[in-house]
Amino acid sequence: MRVVRSVAELRIAVKAMREQGLRIGFVPTMGYLHEGHAALIRQSANRCDATVVSIYVNPTQFGPTEDLAKYPQDLEADQNLCLRLGVSLLFLPDTQEMYPSNFQTFIEPGRVAEPLCGKYRPGHFRGVATVVAKLFNMVQPDLAFFGQKDLQQTAVVKRMVRDLNLAVDIAVVPTIRETDGLAMSSRNVYLTPEERRRALSISLALFSAESAFRAGERDAPRLQALVQECLWGVDVLQYCELVDAQSLETIVGQVDRSAALCVAAFVGSTRLIDNILLNPHPEAQGILGVGVSQ
Ligand code: AMP
Repeated sequence: MRVVRSVAELRIAVKAMREQGLRIGFVPTMGYLHEGHAALIRQSANRCDATVVSIYVNPTQFGPTEDLAKYPQDLEADQNLCLRLGVSLLFLPDTQEMYPSNFQTFIEPGRVAEPLCGKYRPGHFRGVATVVAKLFNMVQPDLAFFGQKDLQQTAVVKRMVRDLNLAVDIAVVPTIRETDGLAMSSRNVYLTPEERRRALSISLALFSAESAFRAGERDAPRLQALVQECLWGVDVLQYCELVDAQSLETIVGQVDRSAALCVAAFVGSTRLIDNILLNPHPEAQGILGVGVSQ
């Protein structure tokens, strides 16, 4: 595994892969890697000839009161995991490399970035879209992998790829969970043992709505209410919304198309998000297009 820190070195390494005719998979991350990231890397290894992973905690997607300064890091463990998973190239840029002085051009996502997290994290998806577009231009991957856990992020990225004709396919990988159901997240490390127990109520609440849906419940407000009733462990609920899985527009009546139940909540001072997909026509293709999205 080659480790590079500059865009110039990255471009040379990627060019060499291209010249060998390799199909390049890309997994952008903010590090502190866990099994969720590993699932993305494994998918890339299965479907591509070479995998590029980036680790960069992108300041432009953090608000002024968010956890940028204390975002967890363990570069040695991350490198070992990447090595074990057969990553070809690990890109570790610093902020000088990503946003040289006088940087002033951003990508402004549209309506898809407005609801859900967009309401509570102004500017977040502008930062995400900008850094992802920059990374796509640097790596020029054939296929890039994102986690369903960050459902709105996948929707913003897919919209950007279509709207700007970026030459990359997007694959969405299902959420990896702890054995008790909690969605894996680098931020789970912030939770005290007592908060960790309460955080579990988020996934369990979503699972209870999923069971009701499987048993035939299609009424959006009732499914949403079911989740809300079970969120006993959270301190502040930001949103609990049932949305169209593609457009992220709220579903008001019956769930008659691919939908997602999405939750964002604080447990202590840690903000957690999770979602589950509800597909009224499971016999049709997967909700997120199983694998490649366009
Ligand atoms: P992050 O390092 O949190 O920015 O995440 C990097 C990528 O890993 C994003 O595409 C996330 O959606 C994905 N990811 C994070 N947690 C999980 C998880 N539990 N399961 C699947 N993918 C995940």
